[in-house]
Amino acid sequence: MKEDILKALEFPRVMIRENVDLRSCRFNGQYVGELGCKLCNAATECKWLTQHDEFSSLSQKPLAEIATALEFAMHFVEALVMESDHESEVCRCEACRWLRGARETVADIHHDSNGSIE
Ligand SMILES: [Zn+2]
Repeated sequence: MKEDILKALEFPRVMIRENVDLRSCRFNGQYVGELGCKLCNAATECKWLTQHDEFSSLSQKPLAEIATALEFAMHFVEALVMESDHESEVCRCEACRWLRGARETVADIHHDSNGSIE
C-alpha cells in the first residue's frame, strides 16, 4: 500500500513543479516557512513539494501522512484537469489516467482503515 502511494506521488510532483508560478519567488521555490512564504499564492504547493520531494525520506513517514500528501496531489491535479475541461472519468491523457488511479488508491486507504487513517 505504502509503495503504491509513493509511486503515485511521482507524477503530481512533476506536475505541481511545472505549474507553480515561481517568477516572483525570492527563494527559488524553496519553501522557507509560514513567515517568509505567507504572502505567496504558491505557498501551499511549495510546502508540499518541499515536504514530499525525492529526498524527504517519504518511506519513513507514517502512512497517514503520505496518504494526506496523495489526497492533496489529487485535488491539485483534479483542479488542473477541470480547468482544461477534461472529462477525467474517460479522458486518456496522463493526468486523467493518474487521477483515476489516485482516486482508487485513496478509496482503498479509507476502506482499509475503516475511514480513519489517523
Ligand atoms: Zn485528461
